[in-house]
Amino acid sequence: MSENPYLTSRMRGFGTTIFAQMSALAVATQAVNLGQGFPDTDGPPEILEAAIDAIRAGHNQYPPGIGIPELRQAVAEHQKRFYDITLNPDTEVLITAGATEAITAALLALCEFGDEVVVFEPYYDSYAAAIAMAGAHRRCVPLRPPDYSYAPEDLEAAISERTRLILVNSPHNPTGKVFSRSELSHIASLAVERNLLVVTDEVYEHIVFEGEHLPLATFPQMAERTVSISSAGKTFSVTGWKIGWITTTEELVRAIQTTKQFLTYVNGAPFQHAIVKGLRLGDSYFKELAQNLQMCKDELSAGLREVGMEVHESHGTYFVISDISGFADDGLEFCLGLPERCGVVAVPVQVFCDDLELGASLARFAFCKKPEVIAEAVKRLGRLN
Ligand code: PMP
Ligand code: GLN
Repeated sequence: MSENPYLTSRMRGFGTTIFAQMSALAVATQAVNLGQGFPDTDGPPEILEAAIDAIRAGHNQYPPGIGIPELRQAVAEHQKRFYDITLNPDTEVLITAGATEAITAALLALCEFGDEVVVFEPYYDSYAAAIAMAGAHRRCVPLRPPDYSYAPEDLEAAISERTRLILVNSPHNPTGKVFSRSELSHIASLAVERNLLVVTDEVYEHIVFEGEHLPLATFPQMAERTVSISSAGKTFSVTGWKIGWITTTEELVRAIQTTKQFLTYVNGAPFQHAIVKGLRLGDSYFKELAQNLQMCKDELSAGLREVGMEVHESHGTYFVISDISGFADDGLEFCLGLPERCGVVAVPVQVFCDDLELGASLARFAFCKKPEVIAEAVKRLGRLN
């Protein structure tokens, strides 16, 4: 596709997101959509009812810029309950339009033009765009298959005099990696030593199958330099509601609120009320969420293996990656041809990489779907042989 002459040079090459492209392809070809990561079932009924109640109760005007007090309180309680992090809900929590706005607002607030942002690749697509919008540059550290660990020396080498912050995503999209305690300790020690900020994207915090989600903010001397981001979309299966949050120090909240207020100002007043209810659900809800998704993950992984692909075990998130060499020359070609070949949509991993070799033979499949949809996808994938 030729470049749009109106688009600023900073945003050249970003075009339309791979998720929108692949969902459109799925609709056009009536394929089973294992591309874009969204659940095909609604979230818990009590949360849906709470949103309807909030609309009926008249919570339909601008909420406070920092978010409604009840939600800030519920986010603080959640951080205490799951991670023993103590926060002042009036100064250390900021409600955002999903994690996407939180990430962009943080980068716009914290980066000078020309600063460098260290990011692990494959990276979630909005990171590259947000870094570009902030006028910063990305420095990538490869996560290498099949276990997606990184070489400590690669991270050390990526940090320079111009590095402003490290952007970490765990559990990690698209690889399903859950960063280990020793990896997070290494990242934390470098951040402290080099006086860097860390922005952590923890939207899949409750979707962990193996290992444990450890927030970087809980590591020594990290609370004062970590901007932690999460959102309701994945945890409560309401990806269209776009309620997210930042937890960090008062000064960092104020800095990020300055940019956030001019992006959306506020969003989703009735949904903010509903998510208060969600965050206060019992522990069993959060456990079952991961257990149910784990069954879907196992089912899809087994199906992919049966077809003859090498599957890279997913330890968390909505996604599993498999190696498609043997089925096409590269992942992009494979994914573009997959709907026609067998009526399934997946996402090529190379679109999340600067180093095209890194993701060349990999495809990401989403398993956040009903068991019967996964079963149908597996059946269709059998046509590959
Ligand atoms: N970060 C990651 C790693 C994601 O996978 C997503 C997509 N859900 C987001 C951020 C965006 O989250 P939200 O929908 O809350 O903006
Ligand atoms: N996070 C979702 C994914 O990785 C997509 C969200 C979006 O379309 N921006 O599939």
